Amino acid sequence: MFTLVHQDKNGKARLGKLVTEHGEIDTPTFMPVGTHATIKGLYPKDVEEAGAQIMLSNTYHVFLRPGMDVIRKAGGLHKFISWGKPILTDSGGYQVFSLALLRKLSDKGVEFQSHIDGFKHFLTPEDVIDIQSDLGSDIMMPLDECVHYPCTKDHGEVAMKRTVIWAKRSHKHMLEHKKNGPTRKQLLFGIVQGATYEDLRWVCAKELIDIDFDGYSIGGVSVGEPSDLIYNILDFTAGLLPQGKPRYAMGIGYPADIVEAVDRGIDMFDCVVPTRYGRNGTAFTSGGKIPIRNAPYAEDFKPLDEQCSCYVCKNFSRAYLRHLFNAQEMLGLTLLSLHNVYFFLDLTRNIREAIKQDKFKEFKKIFLKRYNESFSS
Ligand SMILES: [Zn+2]
Repeated sequence: MFTLVHQDKNGKARLGKLVTEHGEIDTPTFMPVGTHATIKGLYPKDVEEAGAQIMLSNTYHVFLRPGMDVIRKAGGLHKFISWGKPILTDSGGYQVFSLALLRKLSDKGVEFQSHIDGFKHFLTPEDVIDIQSDLGSDIMMPLDECVHYPCTKDHGEVAMKRTVIWAKRSHKHMLEHKKNGPTRKQLLFGIVQGATYEDLRWVCAKELIDIDFDGYSIGGVSVGEPSDLIYNILDFTAGLLPQGKPRYAMGIGYPADIVEAVDRGIDMFDCVVPTRYGRNGTAFTSGGKIPIRNAPYAEDFKPLDEQCSCYVCKNFSRAYLRHLFNAQEMLGLTLLSLHNVYFFLDLTRNIREAIKQDKFKEFKKIFLKRYNESFSS
């Protein structure tokens, strides 16, 4: 399912290919996020044309609204949202911890109140596998307990141990499901937790590797800790994981974070940042961020990014985009989101090309220098 195609001769950056039922994914890859079963403001065909090979959908949101009855009747998530390429679904664990009201955790599962209508739900790790199976996701995540930063070691240990117990039950349930149910080739990744404690991460990774998942996610990063600490956790945890399986840093991140994580041997990324910033009027460019509403862009007829070959940069000026935002026209949100998604996908395309030529370290140096200099100026 995963082939390690090449590792840069000068470091840990890797080139891989992940095969799923709905298509192949070249890694390192960026997954645009469709929170409510849509990548906000964008047509699926445009996201695909921008080069996305996989998208992420949030189980928690889809489970609550429209609910699983609708998804089942629609014939699964791919059909419901008209997206023919692979879909990765998260477990909903992170949203339960960050969005849901009143949650109660036990080894058995998690009880929570919907943030939409206050309705109470109880989900076991087995339920979460069943939900993702019905969604028809190509890559599923087991229920895990995500902790915030800072977190005491005791708390981190309890959450990590529970994550391991749930991972074992999820994997067992998936195998039974495959035996008795449809022969879908859904993949299941394990999620390494353990907060900022290396020994906890080590124990968790070892336990999960024994279970033998199809890939490994690094969870509980980018939850409020400083960048240096994020990179240390990624570096340390990636070093514990098997070479021949994909590695996914959940919720990472900004362009600089992606580049740093690839340098530490990570293959997969997701983040809401491209569309969230797009809607708020900020474009990511090779020269840093552009707050398009600002006055200096009023008569700036250059494209957002002269190095970008997306539909937006080929056809529209900064002045026009600024006008759309000031006139509160919908097209502005869509165009900036589309450019941003393309920028993140193009970043991973360029990263893959650099690794192929064993030039990732040079790429990283040049990219970060230009990006950071412009950002701080
Ligand atoms: Zn562009």
